[in-house]
Amino acid sequence: MSEGTLPGGQPLNPVEPFLRMDRMPHIWCPGCGIGITVNCFARALVESRVPLEQTVVVSGIGCTGRVAGYLNLDSFHTTHGRAIPFATGLKLANPELRVVVYSGDGDLIAIGGNHFIHAARRNVDLKVICVNNFIYGMTGGQIAPTTPLTALGTTAPYGTFEQPFNLPYLAESSGAVYVARWTTFHVRQIAKAMREMFQKKGFSFLEIISPCPTLYQRRNRLGDGLETMKYYKEKSLTCHGANTKEVSIGFQSEILVGKFVDIERPTFLETMNDQLARTLGQEYRRYGEGHGDD
Ligand code: SF4
Repeated sequence: MSEGTLPGGQPLNPVEPFLRMDRMPHIWCPGCGIGITVNCFARALVESRVPLEQTVVVSGIGCTGRVAGYLNLDSFHTTHGRAIPFATGLKLANPELRVVVYSGDGDLIAIGGNHFIHAARRNVDLKVICVNNFIYGMTGGQIAPTTPLTALGTTAPYGTFEQPFNLPYLAESSGAVYVARWTTFHVRQIAKAMREMFQKKGFSFLEIISPCPTLYQRRNRLGDGLETMKYYKEKSLTCHGANTKEVSIGFQSEILVGKFVDIERPTFLETMNDQLARTLGQEYRRYGEGHGDD
């Protein structure tokens, strides 16, 4: 057996060490985009050489929420909508950790929406990855706060008429310092954005538009996962620095992708330390500085 091969000469998949192979096979449907994002995440970990013992993944509930359980890192599968407060607690208890929140649009933006905006407002140093497939997958295809107008869901059999969130705009206006969006067609760009987030200090947000062939695509007669990848390829327009107010997504519309925001702003711990040092003077020992990335 040579280096990089398995017994029998099969090539060793470079992302395999990042997965809990004892949990395979995974639960995701054929053509689902979530696995693609996991592959990008593993590659970003390899390429950025971040210390794995200091990297933690937190997820809530839902199909994307399963990611935490399949990764061979310290990971936490928390309750519905509570990934961000759980991650905030982890980060504040141990500022040396690189804390990644990896979940779906329903978990992060519906049930967890309030946590999302407040963590961004405070600029807690979290790397938030939202796999947005426009639907509640695990619970049967109900419309989500991201479902484009007129699309069908089990709770909108005649087409939704609720205005969806524009997630990059929501993230930026709440205070995020890094905001990007790609689709699962853009695997290199996703991995690059993840690497950038690993290095970024503050609330960083990556939206990944992803197919759910079993529920969203099927109910809306949009074909399988491959058809959706063709749609992403044809209808995505890279527009770095775009005004996030103008990147909302309509039903089967053009999708503006790119890195929209990359700014610096004091983190939650920095502002806390500055305020307490001002008030308490030399007696105050700054917390969580001098190590890690915060
Ligand atoms: S229901 Fe949709 S999101 Fe969930 S695993 Fe299947 S294809 Fe993916």
